[in-house]
Amino acid sequence: MNVASTIKPAATLPNRMVIGGRLVEARSGKTFNVENPATGEVIATVPDAHAADIDLAVRAARESFDQGAWWKLRYSDRAEILWRLADILQANAEELAHIETLDNGMKLADATAFVRGGIGSIRTFAGICGKLHGRTAEVSGPGMEFHAFSLREPVGVAALITPWNGPFTMACTKSAMALAAGCSVVLKPAEQTPLTALKLGEYALEAGIPAGVFNVVTGFGETAGAPLCAHPEVDKISFTGSTVVGKQIMKVAADRMKRVSFELGGKSPVFIFEDADLEQTIPAAAMGIFRNSGQVCFAGSRLYVHDKSYDRVVSGISEIAGKIRLGDGMDPATDLGPLISGKQQERVLGYVESGREAGAEVVTGGARLDGPGYFVKPTVVAGVNAEMQLVREEIFGPVLTVQPFKEIDDVAAIGNATRYGLGAGIYTRDLSRAHRLAKALRAGNVWVNNYGFLDRMLPFGGYKESGLGREGGYEGLGAFMEDKTVYMKL
Ligand code: NAP
Ligand code: MG
Repeated sequence: MNVASTIKPAATLPNRMVIGGRLVEARSGKTFNVENPATGEVIATVPDAHAADIDLAVRAARESFDQGAWWKLRYSDRAEILWRLADILQANAEELAHIETLDNGMKLADATAFVRGGIGSIRTFAGICGKLHGRTAEVSGPGMEFHAFSLREPVGVAALITPWNGPFTMACTKSAMALAAGCSVVLKPAEQTPLTALKLGEYALEAGIPAGVFNVVTGFGETAGAPLCAHPEVDKISFTGSTVVGKQIMKVAADRMKRVSFELGGKSPVFIFEDADLEQTIPAAAMGIFRNSGQVCFAGSRLYVHDKSYDRVVSGISEIAGKIRLGDGMDPATDLGPLISGKQQERVLGYVESGREAGAEVVTGGARLDGPGYFVKPTVVAGVNAEMQLVREEIFGPVLTVQPFKEIDDVAAIGNATRYGLGAGIYTRDLSRAHRLAKALRAGNVWVNNYGFLDRMLPFGGYKESGLGREGGYEGLGAFMEDKTVYMKL
């Protein structure tokens, strides 16, 4: 098929930031290129924001917050505007999915599902606007009577920083939580995938979010992200990205005791027991790692299989991996798109190479695809051990390591032998075993007989170096609020 014919002209792609209710260029006039990772072609240019632009955006947010342009609205009015935003996004869902595929490379069907998920987040948080509130308690002192109560207030100006692997849905979820809580926002998407976040900013204005409440800036981590985090008028930083950058931001935030939430990396273990239904388990475990070409923070990247089922599982997953069609996300025949960049492609293949050098066996994949774009074949590596770099470190690509375990092994200890703690998978028909292991695993999300299902009303986040705080549900909303207690002497 002619892939190019399905691609919308570049003229419809956004090229300006949203600051103070206006669409603007960088003050320097500088821009940077955005490329399609399936072809390496430049598809758009966007403003290259630096400290001066960040300052404008933060000040616009601060001013709108101090004036109460958003948080002083009745919560049902805020919900109505968020709901309207969701409707506008829904009406433009096809366009958004196209842009996401061009920008990120993921196949159009996945982009469509992600866009739907992002819109769902906005509806979810529109629905819980005003439903997180304070409480009262019986309070008294010697000879004193009180009426005491607590209030939940928006934390102020929130900086939201997102990565490139699920750009629209993550921008929506963070923005929806922050806005539902009443915060004013500055959103900085990843430099590799800024386009759908810019569209979100434009549609937020159209929906009637007051000027200055929702700002979107585009730029690089060091020159735009860092000054955003360091800005004295930012009260809260919500960051999704690598653990390395998360730690840097935590240090910067410490200076003013800024509130922080982190969703970081992972190296999530998946266990297949001898009683698992292998018909369902093998494809589920395969997609638990290969989905989005492995560029998923909770990807099930370390597979442990009971030795009785080991051979069948390894050959089953390898067979699926070998049949996956890599290609341009716009082509309906494509199963999986490329990695985000040439740099990421090199990184992922470097890990496979390190495994080979250490004596591991690459059962399938382990190579790039000839031609343009940053493709890596779905890869299964066996013959690994816990000391190998590719078992210990997050690869963020379509690379699965597989190891057998025996009846007597302490599988929880094997799963927990990592500095990460984002996800874990358990495939078994034994309910007691599933419950016990789910409790014993030090991970924020445990999936039993499925992998990776998420619902935005439930908390999502990581133990240990996988993050701090939770997104989703009341916990996610609460992360954008302060508690205040008022004691009134009667
Ligand atoms: P990254 O390099 O940490 O970038 C994430 C975001 O932070 C980008 O917007 C980046 O901007 C910005 N940034 C970089 N340096 C910064 C600094 N010094 N100060 C402020 N902001 C800065 O991560 P990535 O490589 O793009 O994304 C992959 C990582 O994200 C993986 O480790 C993955 O596990 C993690 N992730 C976690 C979750 C989760 O929910 N737990 C979800 C998705 C991804 P630029 O891109 O413009 O440089
Ligand atoms: Mg980056």
